[in-house]
Amino acid sequence: MIKLACNLSALQSRTRENGELLSLIGLDRVDLARVIEPLGVKPFRAQQIFRWIYNRGVADFSEMTNISKDLQSELAKHFSLARPAISQHQKSDDGTQKWLLRFDDAQEAECVHIPEAERGTLCVSSQVGCTLNCSFCHTGTQRMVRNLGPSEILGQLMVARDDFGEWPAPDFNRKVSNLVMMGMGEPLYNFDNVKKALLIAIDNEGLSISKRKITLSTSGVVPMIERVGREIGVQLAISLHAVRDELRDILVPINKKWPIAELLDACRHYPGGRNARRITFEYVMLKNFNDSLEEARELTQLLRNIPSKVNLIPFNPWPGANYECSSENVIRDFNEIINDAGITSVIRRPRGRDILAACGQLKSESVRQKRTKLDQ
Ligand code: SAH
Ligand code: SF4
Repeated sequence: MIKLACNLSALQSRTRENGELLSLIGLDRVDLARVIEPLGVKPFRAQQIFRWIYNRGVADFSEMTNISKDLQSELAKHFSLARPAISQHQKSDDGTQKWLLRFDDAQEAECVHIPEAERGTLCVSSQVGCTLNCSFCHTGTQRMVRNLGPSEILGQLMVARDDFGEWPAPDFNRKVSNLVMMGMGEPLYNFDNVKKALLIAIDNEGLSISKRKITLSTSGVVPMIERVGREIGVQLAISLHAVRDELRDILVPINKKWPIAELLDACRHYPGGRNARRITFEYVMLKNFNDSLEEARELTQLLRNIPSKVNLIPFNPWPGANYECSSENVIRDFNEIINDAGITSVIRRPRGRDILAACGQLKSESVRQKRTKLDQ
């Protein structure tokens, strides 16, 4: 896996070599102050600039009206406020939108907005592709993988807020009120960058999204789970998908490294995992694979001592997938067994299937196009 240089000085010198301006997006308060300090910017000014970037969303230094014209032009000489380029923007019949974003090295990742009454959820990617190859997931079939940097993760949010004109974000009826790290990639294989981006998203003077409205989903990188609770404090979702190791080994191969018992143990100790902050267990419904009523009962046993809720995800098909979605009746009965056992379970309504924007359908085409070019 190629790691994006998140070391500041490396990033600065690389930017200088390329003759590009360093984007300030993705820098936290401390890094921002450090980067602009050589221009003679005092710490309190750096805090004002932080607010202009993340709270007001300005895309041009000249809009920073409480900053002198001289400093505005000095900043513009050295830095940019550039967002990732939008290489494609699609809208589904149900209102779901998908942006394909292109980064400086021409790699691409997708970001999806799901509108609901009086709120909206942005589904954000953490990597280009994914190393983990879950057998039912489209992203897992993509070969090229690299981590996204904090600027590329936050850039997805900023593009969406730009589109909705939500600067600063309103107190009510926000279009981007909730955030889920459920796009392409495994966020806990890119912990440092995801943490940096989420802490800026949570910051009251940043993007100001409450940590209770942010959910991070993991396939089960057990050693990192405790750090999510302690260092970021967002809601946790676990891609469980099976109740027995033999089957989970096939569906979510990371299970061979960290089996179900270890995963659930980490959940039991999740900091803040009290009733108010229940852990969501995601369970994809695959016809004749993991959808028997016996498995529903086993699931309720497994979750007995964990403050939890269940999300049943009807399988979203993609070209070449070897699975089918369980029937509506089976999903309904499965759901009922869990609810009857006193665990809240909901069936996630598929959104944006017509533009391949639903869970597990994301996959950027950049690699395939590149390979086709190489083949010529
Ligand atoms: N890598 C992380 C987050 C991204 S996937 C994880 O696996 O948790 C977000 C959710 O979509 C996960 O629960 C994933 O298992 C599920 N998913 C993947 N492919 C799917 C598909 N084809 N249909 C329905 N859900 C799918
Ligand atoms: Fe990666 Fe998550 Fe897809 Fe598995 S389900 S391949 S971890 S993105």
